[in-house]
Amino acid sequence: MINLNSQRIVEEVLKQLQERMNSKTETPIGVSARHCHFNEKDLETLFGKGYQLTKKTDLLQPGQFAANETVTIAGPKGSIERVRVLGPLRNATQVEVSQTDAMKLGLNPPIRESGNLQGSSPITIIGPKGSIYLEEGLIIAQAHIHMPPDVARQLHVQDGDYIKVEIDNPIRPISFEKVRIRISSKYVLEMHIDTDEANAGFIKSGQKGKIINAGKIL
Ligand SMILES: [Zn+2]
Repeated sequence: MINLNSQRIVEEVLKQLQERMNSKTETPIGVSARHCHFNEKDLETLFGKGYQLTKKTDLLQPGQFAANETVTIAGPKGSIERVRVLGPLRNATQVEVSQTDAMKLGLNPPIRESGNLQGSSPITIIGPKGSIYLEEGLIIAQAHIHMPPDVARQLHVQDGDYIKVEIDNPIRPISFEKVRIRISSKYVLEMHIDTDEANAGFIKSGQKGKIINAGKIL
């Protein structure tokens, strides 16, 4: 009788441990379509003095939202209309596109972490009330994972580390080898990839990926 109970307890503990392991190493995926972030000055040039963005939908990351406003972006070879503006406003204006978009524009932006704009590509942005030309500001976003500190502690990873994330689609399984970790208490766990990365693996927003290597033994 004691043995049977002990075995049950061991099984239950193992089951719970397994569940916890699984939940620790799974991340929701958010697919980021081309978009712009604006500072106040550039927003006013494009949309008019004192203009305020209006919210269309909340994004998963707290405080971040997709605005109703869109702009046109242009390069030497072409332009793309209805590029979504994201809020809230930032210190620096930044445009994020996929490599497919960049080829259409005729530009060659680097793969960068958001906010790291030095030496990035030039871009022209056209709004309803005006247009701007930025010497730099166009990037392809580095695949990254937003992580709250408690999850980072569980995974033994630091801000700026890279992890690998595997998406187990039966028809076209795909893995991302270099996903940069960004840690903040303002974040909820979510990996961000662009549309080229998503389309390559038939990935939809909300799908789960498996963190299979944190650079250290998990
Ligand atoms: Zn992100």
